[in-house]
Amino acid sequence: PPRGDIILEALRVTRRFGDRPANHEVSLSAEAGSILALIGPNGAGKSTLLDLLSGVDTPSSGAIVFMGDAVTGRGPRHYAELGLCRSFQQACLLPERSVLDNTALGAHLRGTHGIAACAGHADRREEARLLAEATRQLERVGLGDCLHQPAASLPPGRRRLLEIARALAADPCLLLLDEPAAGLRATEKTELAALLHKLRAGGMTILLAEHDRDFVMELADQVLVMDAGAITVRGTPAEVRAHPALRAAYVGS
Ligand code: ADP
Ligand code: MG
Repeated sequence: PPRGDIILEALRVTRRFGDRPANHEVSLSAEAGSILALIGPNGAGKSTLLDLLSGVDTPSSGAIVFMGDAVTGRGPRHYAELGLCRSFQQACLLPERSVLDNTALGAHLRGTHGIAACAGHADRREEARLLAEATRQLERVGLGDCLHQPAASLPPGRRRLLEIARALAADPCLLLLDEPAAGLRATEKTELAALLHKLRAGGMTILLAEHDRDFVMELADQVLVMDAGAITVRGTPAEVRAHPALRAAYVGS
């Protein structure tokens, strides 16, 4: 989609667990080629919102619109086929399998054979194509030198890059990342930020939930502050930083 088009919208989305809403009438829109950051304390509802936006979970009410189509309730596989991919707060890599295999699993999401092909039923040409695509994405994130190492052997920062490569292998136009900087060292965060900038420069739209405010303020075009299931403040990083409701929170943080 052309830069600046609205690629993803949430329209008054509510998700209840029991009688407590984890998200209450949340609305947002993401412009193609921009980085949107959701920040807020633990339990604010960020992961729930990413689940709703990626079709992993279905809202109790409200709608999700992706590239102009209502996709509410269609399931994550359908979303991936449309070009929306996400990483999870708890990574689900296959630790014993190679970096390359883990990434090829992502490419399968949009391959013609579906996920079952991972078990080894793919035809040879399709398999070669997926491995070539996975290699290309690993080089793009800077992991071209460890294709054949087991995923578990990577340090946390590089594992995070692997998760992103795996999402990229499905050729998304929108990437949803849940706490991508969590547990990373300062230098690893800098590398991650550089990668996300590079992806945006290539036209990717990125929506990330993040705990680390400094990381987000350097990176995002738009910041959405969530608290108790609702978006309380939104704007550019400078606007959010200057907002009276948040200024106090920044002093001494
Ligand atoms: P965040 O990612 O901002 O830390 P979450 O979206 O994980 O917040 O959680 C928001 C609220 O929803 C929390 O109170 C959490 O306990 C609740 N919640 C999340 N998932 C479930 C679930 N599957 N069942 C019940 N409650 C849930
Ligand atoms: Mg979370």
